[in-house]
Amino acid sequence: MKYYSLHHQSPLVDFRTATITGQAPDGGLYFPESIPTFSPDFLRALRGLSKATVALNVMRPYVGGTIPEVDLQRICAEAVDFAFPLVPVVDGVSSLELFHGPTLAFKDVGARFMSRCLGYFAKAGDTPAVTVLVATSGDTGGAVASGFLGVPGVEVVILYPSGKVSPVQEQQLTTLGQNITALEVSGTFDDCQALVKQAFRDPELARRRFLTSANSINVARWLPQQLYYCFAMQQWPAGAPAPVVAVPSGNFGNLCAGLLAQASGLPLGHFIAACNANEPVPAYLRTGTYEPRPAVPTFSNAMDVGNPSNFVRILELFDNDLGRLRAALSADTVSDADTVAAIREVWEQRGYLLDPHGAVAYTALRRYQARHPEAASAGMILATAHPVKFPGVVEPVLGRAIELPEVVRALQGRAKRSVPIAVNYEELKAHLM
Ligand SMILES: *Cc1c(COP(=O)(O)O)cnc(C)c1O
Repeated sequence: MKYYSLHHQSPLVDFRTATITGQAPDGGLYFPESIPTFSPDFLRALRGLSKATVALNVMRPYVGGTIPEVDLQRICAEAVDFAFPLVPVVDGVSSLELFHGPTLAFKDVGARFMSRCLGYFAKAGDTPAVTVLVATSGDTGGAVASGFLGVPGVEVVILYPSGKVSPVQEQQLTTLGQNITALEVSGTFDDCQALVKQAFRDPELARRRFLTSANSINVARWLPQQLYYCFAMQQWPAGAPAPVVAVPSGNFGNLCAGLLAQASGLPLGHFIAACNANEPVPAYLRTGTYEPRPAVPTFSNAMDVGNPSNFVRILELFDNDLGRLRAALSADTVSDADTVAAIREVWEQRGYLLDPHGAVAYTALRRYQARHPEAASAGMILATAHPVKFPGVVEPVLGRAIELPEVVRALQGRAKRSVPIAVNYEELKAHLM
């Protein structure tokens, strides 16, 4: 498998090069040259296969021989080594819980897969020691820190906005140590992002360190996100209509991975892009005009993205054909007030606690089902994070403190280690040099 740049000004590369460089030299995102087809045998046997076997079958063509089969087998098994239950919430809505990994968010899958691939390439000796530099508004940093912890040949530097991530998220970033360094920036997420972008453009730094990013523009993080759509179908009732899938979306990597799995033949139904007030994609589907905007803060803060980087991949998947895209994908915008109302309603009526991102998806799905009765029995939401990560939103609904899962309790009381820096590129550079 080769990957081309969506800007079409760079050479084709293999999976290894796409993974260690992240982005093409022309600034474009990498996209697979062809979409593999799941074989009829694979689809027939899907229900009975282990998660590791599913992962190996789905990822093998994308990795394209750049990682030997035995190593890829281990990487796949470790990347999906936790539960992905599909839980009934109300009639016609099931929740695919993607928050049972080490940092309680779906990003664990991509981060674990990518870190192990980079670790393999570093060990294979043909790659210089790599520094993963990443800015986080919360969930990405924790998943990357946990995924890369202890991986030889890879150092991780995470920038996060001081005081603007939740206590659990901060513990996940700052208490691991080893090859993980957390830089606590006295600014906003956008400041962190700007500092990281400047570092990637600095030729002097590039001579000193091989920098790569670990966000969902990286194919090794994006592509394995197809896997849990397969795990969902392993649990979907046999003979039931194909599920309508609502995906809480920010950078649109998760949704794009679902559409890719569908393009490969996974029998998923219609997709719904569930967005908060940051709605360039819903507006595009309405008007046909795509206009990025500055992000506005919401309760579902992992989706506060004003210019989603993976949307160009979705357009590519549909050959920029708006009509085809509209047939496959709807989109909706959910306010903070409606998000909280959904958390309350589902909690009070069903005793099921949604996090704000899952609540956005739930609301968008219910509205879609109200307009499309044929979809009323067959809805699925992706529950992307555990509610404990958003106590400020869910605890007022619960009326009490939320019980901490074991992986969070394990971090309690561990010493926080962060390096405070100002919003000043020279300070970041000094640290990296
Ligand atoms: C990152 C994140 C999202 C958005 O996912 P994208 O792939 O960027 O669209 C949604 N929910 C949670 C909890 C996240 O951490």
